[in-house]
Amino acid sequence: MADWLKLPSFLRRRKTEDHAEIAGCCSDYIDGELTEPMLSRLENHLSWCGPCTAFISSLRSTVDSLRGLPAKTPPPELKDAIRREVRNSKN
Ligand SMILES: [Zn+2]
Repeated sequence: MADWLKLPSFLRRRKTEDHAEIAGCCSDYIDGELTEPMLSRLENHLSWCGPCTAFISSLRSTVDSLRGLPAKTPPPELKDAIRREVRNSKN
């Protein structure tokens, strides 16, 4: 799991096995890859747990905004510069 997905402090307190379990599968949930019976457990948990709901919705908006970033294409002059450098380094 990436660093930015680390559990927020409210999920690390005691008696939070459920919250930790939810947090552990929330990225699958956001990707639509979570399957039963975990899917029902998660949705049931979200129906009463505000912090997990907030956590998942902020994670979802982060993931959505990352997906929304345009794929960057390097400018052609950069390609030329790299080719030139490679050619020069061979001499
Ligand atoms: Zn929770």
